[in-house]
Amino acid sequence: MRALLKAVTFPEILMGLKETLKHLFTPSVTLQYPHVKRSLPGGYRGMLSLLRYSDGGEKCVGCDLCEATCPSRVITVVSAEVQGEPTKRYAKEYYMDMTRCVFCGLCVEACPVDALGMTKEYEWAVYDKRSLRLNKEQLLAIGDRSFPERERPVQDQYHNVATFNIGRPQLPQKQY
Ligand code: SF4
Ligand code: SF4
Repeated sequence: MRALLKAVTFPEILMGLKETLKHLFTPSVTLQYPHVKRSLPGGYRGMLSLLRYSDGGEKCVGCDLCEATCPSRVITVVSAEVQGEPTKRYAKEYYMDMTRCVFCGLCVEACPVDALGMTKEYEWAVYDKRSLRLNKEQLLAIGDRSFPERERPVQDQYHNVATFNIGRPQLPQKQY
């Protein structure tokens, strides 16, 4: 009897129609992009950037940890000694090939001085993918516009880190 009823009423079609009607009366969630943009969650992982301290100095110390950590080989760091300050290094050159990035955030986690930040920028469509190989100046510019609030230099925050005070006579020097 049940099989007969099923054969006569086609319940699968009725179930399908029910789904269609449900969606017909559900409010639309389409946004008129690019005129309307959705608000992104706090932890959104967008374009990467290099950050500066409040005095304008670059945070990156050229340690290469981000390059070693990156699973997609996005990052290339050419590190050098800060002139006149033999205990300090910096990234003389820094490149990111964003065509390879999977936005995993591992480089940000690995950086010992929080020199990398993930922004909420995502409108990076280009005609020539070679333009997505970003250099240090481009990455710093992204950081400047996305993170206007900057951290104070580490040697100003922790005066006992005297090793970093070489070349800054106004701060305590390391005793040997
Ligand atoms: S977010 Fe992931 S894939 Fe992209 S550069 Fe950092 S470590 Fe590499
Ligand atoms: S961004 Fe951070 S991890 Fe990468 S080289 Fe600079 S200091 Fe090291």
